[in-house]
Amino acid sequence: MSTAAFGSPQKMGRIILLGLEEVIGRGGLEAVLQVGELEEAAQNVRSGLEERTFSFEAVSRLHQALEELYGPRGGRGLALRVGRSCFKYGLKEYGSMLGLTETAFRLLPLSTKLHAGAGSFAGLFNKYTDQQVRVAETDSEILWHIERCPLCWGRVADEPVCHLAVGLLQEALYWLSGGKVFQVEEIACHARGDERCTILIQKKPLT
Ligand SMILES: [Zn+2]
Repeated sequence: MSTAAFGSPQKMGRIILLGLEEVIGRGGLEAVLQVGELEEAAQNVRSGLEERTFSFEAVSRLHQALEELYGPRGGRGLALRVGRSCFKYGLKEYGSMLGLTETAFRLLPLSTKLHAGAGSFAGLFNKYTDQQVRVAETDSEILWHIERCPLCWGRVADEPVCHLAVGLLQEALYWLSGGKVFQVEEIACHARGDERCTILIQKKPLT
């Protein structure tokens, strides 16, 4: 498998479609694609047409279509679940490249794992997607800054809307920590007029 194919937007698109289908079923997925007018984009992903990219605009429209179909609250809950599901599919595709699956890594203290995991996960986005992530840390928090966020691309909203990213990080943290739950919250969103999307993670787990 070539490096280009590995990191193609198609692969990311495929992960999102798989995550969506797992959460809302085949019928739900078809409805979302229809509302977002994304049938052709999805067809390109499924048939593996590498030259046709699954654009930021397509990702944003998928996210918005979830809200239109299921309402803002329902759509939010589903997007969180889709994000969690996407992490599992993403791990299958990219897990070995994260370098976090070796036994030695699993034996590290939690704080070290969080630091290394955040850096490694951000590096994956920066290397293989057009989405740019910057991680900042304090003693108690991790700030996950998304400089070019596909989820809210071109959107305008009153409150943060990048729920899929929140779900993705929740699941990443759950996996990284061996089953702990963390508080994860989007505190700034480009769609709301903020400069970038920022997700705040509390380092101390809730459970
Ligand atoms: Zn965003």
